[in-house]
Amino acid sequence: MLDDLKEILDIQDLDMKMIRLMRVRKERQKELQQISELRTELHAQTRDKETEIEELGKNIQTLEQKIQEINAKIKKLETDQSNIKKADEFNALNQAMTQAERERIAIEQKVSDLVDKRIAEEEMLAKIKESLKSSEASSMNLEKEITSSIQLINEEGATLKEQRDALAVKANPSTLQIYDRLLRNKRDRVVVPIENRTCSGCHIVLTAQHENLVRKGENIVFCEHCSRIHYWQESVAEDSVVATKRRRRRVTASA
Ligand SMILES: [Zn+2]
Repeated sequence: MLDDLKEILDIQDLDMKMIRLMRVRKERQKELQQISELRTELHAQTRDKETEIEELGKNIQTLEQKIQEINAKIKKLETDQSNIKKADEFNALNQAMTQAERERIAIEQKVSDLVDKRIAEEEMLAKIKESLKSSEASSMNLEKEITSSIQLINEEGATLKEQRDALAVKANPSTLQIYDRLLRNKRDRVVVPIENRTCSGCHIVLTAQHENLVRKGENIVFCEHCSRIHYWQESVAEDSVVATKRRRRRVTASA
């Protein structure tokens, strides 16, 4: 194997761990966001209901005031009536009173409907508040758990970065630069072995000539199909061990 690639392979192992770690962190951060969105939604629902109930209260108050006014009007009509002797005037007041009473009944009906509505809204508000309370209690524990797991991930990431930095100092700078560029593009293993004359990155069969170049290990040889860097594994036994490991890694990564 090309000597330069040995350090790069170690770096690559760390980078793969880092990529997996960052993927997990992203998932966990998404979970945190979902929890907070749910809470925001419930808070908004609570506020909306409270505003609605407040509006209903104001409407009820206005109508009740109107009822008071009608009552006063009726009382005044009654007083007027008692001082009147003429039959036609008496009848006219009677009519006015009947009309006022009819108006009052209509408004009282409206008030009663609004009060029923307010009771229903208040029950709904109580339910929303209850679900907010229970979701807050359970989400708080979950959030704590997620936050501490993110912290662990960050610590692990920092350790990985330290190890990587230490290895990077030892690596051949130009090889590392090529590797870094490939990694940025693929976010996957970019230094891969040839297995059964096949690129283990893109699984396309390679020529014997290409394999020989890699086997010689004099220069960096790129896969002409996927641009990954190829390396040659010395023994067959080692081949199969690495292949198993790689398969296992792939399973973990996709899980
Ligand atoms: Zn390839």
